Amino acid sequence: MPRARRGFLQGLLACPVCAATALGARGAAAADGHGSWSYEGNTGPAEWGKVDPAARVCSVGDQQSPVDLAGGISANLPPLDLNWPVRVYDVTNNGHTVQCDATPGDYVKVGKSVYQLLQFHFHTPSEHAVAGKRAAMEVHFVHKAPDSSLAVLGVLMQPGASNAAFREIMAAAPAQPGKAKSAKPIDIRTLVPAAPRRAWRYEGSLTTPPCSELVSWFVLDRPITVAESDIAAFRRIYAMNARPLQPLNRRFLLRG
Ligand SMILES: [Zn+2]
Repeated sequence: MPRARRGFLQGLLACPVCAATALGARGAAAADGHGSWSYEGNTGPAEWGKVDPAARVCSVGDQQSPVDLAGGISANLPPLDLNWPVRVYDVTNNGHTVQCDATPGDYVKVGKSVYQLLQFHFHTPSEHAVAGKRAAMEVHFVHKAPDSSLAVLGVLMQPGASNAAFREIMAAAPAQPGKAKSAKPIDIRTLVPAAPRRAWRYEGSLTTPPCSELVSWFVLDRPITVAESDIAAFRRIYAMNARPLQPLNRRFLLRG
């Protein structure tokens, strides 16, 4: 990993609160200095590189996310072992998305590697596309990887049969920025399709400012279904919070 990237991560991970704020969409106010970014107009994605010197990579980076997923080089991916206990979650509306914070110690094991779950949050429509098509929504499970970079597990979400976990999260989600608790314990493993699972994998970035290029992406190739009414509930809070597709450039896209 380049030194600058490692240094950024050490700073980020030395302070759990900072890590939580700089990751994904949550609390971008702290990450970009003034929280002045959005998904449209003169603070929209085309301007993110200007919101703060640290966010310049949003404009000039060549390993940005999300990307269009299609094809991919066949590769072996060890099974994902999800060690996410059923819990009551804090559900936060952070001004850019709905996010749930993880409890320290919850993790995913892939082969021998252990990834610590930090938080998960939602986008509509999906940020990743499959052969040019975006799904209704996407959930991002943000993990700290063994080398202290980040690994994000992305799952596409389509309207269909109701998902009790997503229903519970949307029932708790505050309409205005703020925090609430889920009324019941939530089994977030049900937000991931059942095994056997196949994923696209590539090296990319945070999809919100500061767009840091420190994320190993795993995006599953099968969606989950959630109730149309729960998608509508999310869209009443955030009608659109997905970054435009970024060029793959010279990166490898693996599928396995
Ligand atoms: Zn995200």
